[in-house]
Amino acid sequence: MLKPDLHCHSHFSDGHHSPQYLVQCALENGLSHLAVTDHDFITRHDDSIAANNQLQLISGVEISSAWNDREVHIVGLFIDVNNDGLNNLLYTQREKRKKRIHAMGQRLNDKGITGLVDYLESLKCETWTRSHVAEFLVNNGHCKSWDKAFKRFLSRRGHAYVPIEWASLETTVMNINKAGGIAIVAHPGRYGLTRTKTKRLVSDFKNAGGEAIEGSYGNIDPSTREFLCDLAEEEELHISVGSDFHSAERQWTNLGKFPSLGPGATKNAIWNHPRWHF
Ligand code: AMP
Ligand code: MN
Ligand code: MN
Ligand code: MN
Repeated sequence: MLKPDLHCHSHFSDGHHSPQYLVQCALENGLSHLAVTDHDFITRHDDSIAANNQLQLISGVEISSAWNDREVHIVGLFIDVNNDGLNNLLYTQREKRKKRIHAMGQRLNDKGITGLVDYLESLKCETWTRSHVAEFLVNNGHCKSWDKAFKRFLSRRGHAYVPIEWASLETTVMNINKAGGIAIVAHPGRYGLTRTKTKRLVSDFKNAGGEAIEGSYGNIDPSTREFLCDLAEEEELHISVGSDFHSAERQWTNLGKFPSLGPGATKNAIWNHPRWHF
């Protein structure tokens, strides 16, 4: 049976687990296809861990991108992991992220909170994110919760916020396409956009060469799912799905856990894309 999860994170970005753990968990949850889509980093799989062809692994990445002064996330699937253009783009993004976290560390120092960069350097991860800063603030007792850390320090109005210039939506899509991948708008309902603006985003994305949007993901509500699946149909785009799983500690999430697509939406599903062959 087809049971894909095409969006999740490992400890190479802000997930808590190894790729091997994710594969094990996917097998236990009976998934048929898995893509690990770390932020701005291509996590490589050792194909031998996908036991007996029970689980098909798909290469993936989630790229932070700029659209009209906003940040949107574009997933790339079926990418050539050795493509130079894409790897250069991702390397530049990760270097910018490091600079950003150093600057955030400086802002925290000014408030008497020290040790952020040492904490990041002690981790396995390749991509430094604000999630790591939130963890640092909570683990060291500076904030009671992750949400409070974002509100007080890390959101646009937070004390430690530092802006960052992401690759443009167009640059991201072009590089995914050049690497032979399918570009997908990740979780379009999570950007705080009105439906009119979401339509504009999806239309700009399509004009840039994008091919799909996520039509279902963890915690999506039924009306958003329906809106996104209808929008994909109108725009003649494919529909992808994924949990955006980060950690087993967040018990409301799991690999493979997201509402299934309605029967009307499955004809546009990404598993009917010509690139979906193994
Ligand atoms: P970054 O890519 O460094 O901006 O960090 C973004 C990550 O932080 C996202 O992938 C989310 O996992 C998490 N995140 C972003 N905004 C929030 C928020 N308002 N509350 C909680 N987590 C957030
Ligand atoms: Mn994340
Ligand atoms: Mn995202
Ligand atoms: Mn994600």
